[in-house]
Amino acid sequence: MNNNKYKVLVVEDEDNINNLVSTLLEANGYQVISAKSCASGQMLYFSHKPDLIILDLGLPDTDGTSLLKEVRKNSLTPIIVLSARTDETDKVGALDIGANDYVTKPFGSAELMARVRSALRVSRHSSGNFSDEKFESDGFIIDYDARRVFIDHSEIKLTQTEYNIIAFLSRHSGKVLTYSAIIKEIWGYSDLGSIKKLQVNMANIRKKFGAKPGKKNYIVNELGVGYRMCERNDQV
Ligand code: CA
Repeated sequence: MNNNKYKVLVVEDEDNINNLVSTLLEANGYQVISAKSCASGQMLYFSHKPDLIILDLGLPDTDGTSLLKEVRKNSLTPIIVLSARTDETDKVGALDIGANDYVTKPFGSAELMARVRSALRVSRHSSGNFSDEKFESDGFIIDYDARRVFIDHSEIKLTQTEYNIIAFLSRHSGKVLTYSAIIKEIWGYSDLGSIKKLQVNMANIRKKFGAKPGKKNYIVNELGVGYRMCERNDQV
């Protein structure tokens, strides 16, 4: 057993999905522990202290969100919510109470693995390997002290608001931030009517970043939910 392996807790009651996810993780070098109910998931979480949790919301005993809340009381362990629900409000709800990301069933294996890598990177950032002065990823640099942004050595001129949005997203790189979370951070209130304002700023940012449809970009729009900053190789 390799001690450098990340330990992943999979909480999913459907056998075929639980097996699929577990097999996929093991094939990619992760150590897996799995549970089929919220209660056993919670027990395994406390006894095994996993590095990441993949959590189904529709569980037979209680809703997966109760485990999410329990974990968030005292831990930043990354959590990817697995949901059959296509309803945006469920995803937004899970993200707003602390999920890092969500994957909607049915999902592709490449997509799930990319989300796993990305969520584990977030947790490495928050555990100290992350500079307070600079954000750096694949030629994308944010100098927090100077409030300047560079892509492949060229400075990208942003307005104050645009910069604040980018800085906020970068501090949570890999995590999906909901519209309301971003609006609250940037403008200080949670008025969903401001989504339009956010979208306009985001469109300008993406234009300045040279974002093109179909091309890998630094900011991904999670339709109807929010935005995520990600590293180029975490995209599928
Ligand atoms: Ca289920």
